[in-house]
Amino acid sequence: MRLSLLELLRCPRCRAGASFEADARVSDGSEIREGVVRCRECGLERPIEGGIVDLLYEPPDFVVREAAGLQRFAEVMRRDGWDRERIRQLPNVHLGYWGEQQRAMRYVLTTVPLRAGERILDLGANTCWASNLFARRGLDVVALDITSTELQGLRTAEYFIDSGEVYFERVLSLMFAPAFADASFDYVFCCLTMHHNDPENLRRTMREMHRILRPGGRLLMVNEPLRFPLRLKRDHGKEVAEFEGHEHVYFLHEYWRAARAAGFRVAFPGVRAAAYGLRGHDAHVPPPKGRLAPLKAFLRRHVAGRRLIHGYRIAYYWWKHAIAGDASLDLFASKRSGG
Ligand SMILES: [Zn+2]
Repeated sequence: MRLSLLELLRCPRCRAGASFEADARVSDGSEIREGVVRCRECGLERPIEGGIVDLLYEPPDFVVREAAGLQRFAEVMRRDGWDRERIRQLPNVHLGYWGEQQRAMRYVLTTVPLRAGERILDLGANTCWASNLFARRGLDVVALDITSTELQGLRTAEYFIDSGEVYFERVLSLMFAPAFADASFDYVFCCLTMHHNDPENLRRTMREMHRILRPGGRLLMVNEPLRFPLRLKRDHGKEVAEFEGHEHVYFLHEYWRAARAAGFRVAFPGVRAAAYGLRGHDAHVPPPKGRLAPLKAFLRRHVAGRRLIHGYRIAYYWWKHAIAGDASLDLFASKRSGG
């Protein structure tokens, strides 16, 4: 960690903001590698190990079990051939669900005007692949997770930062009680993270993200699994139960309601995605093919036609996200400028 991180921290015991001071034992010219942070208000002392600040203070049992499960999962990954080189390519690998992460990241990077120097929290950073991408765009990044485990936690950050090309902070903390001061971030990004909360902690995490964002700041939540009236997924998480991932699955409206209850302004689900689909379609996809091609081309040339396509996309969005499935949720929410 670097000293500039201290002003963002909040003591997880006494909740005083910017109350930590650092005692460096080993530094490497870029950051403090070994040492402690100490709260001036209550005296709480927490370690800095391998550059990672450990503010995981008295984590509940299920978090301890989830962290242990991630460690077991890292061993499975290692046996499956995951290594430094493959991690450094993320999300651009042709494996499992990574196609979805590529799509989600493209959506974020093409629709959100991220500017160099803005501060972003990567919530549930895991291998820190997104932290790396944001840091490469010049953002000031903090990665948060519940474990340091290599391949499934914050120590994986070394694969990116030891080259000296990028830097980002790594903090062990709880998403529903993050050790950050109020109004510390311009953005919170999370990918496949929020559903690791039970319903009460989902609402709590939303409130905490609202608290740590600056007025006007935005929550960028992508790829959360959804359940649907026509596809209830009662056995969600069963295939990974041995890793105690504390996984849940929610309806679209449950995420939406939790964000609104926390004080966020949330666009009517689907409108933004549909608009993006239309623009994305115009920008990247070759001219329509097939029997309906002339009709589609005709519609796209006219305002009324484009509105029709937009309406169709919104209807399709609702069908895929709220009724039949199967799609994951991208939800962007913003903190009101006055609040
Ligand atoms: Zn304290």
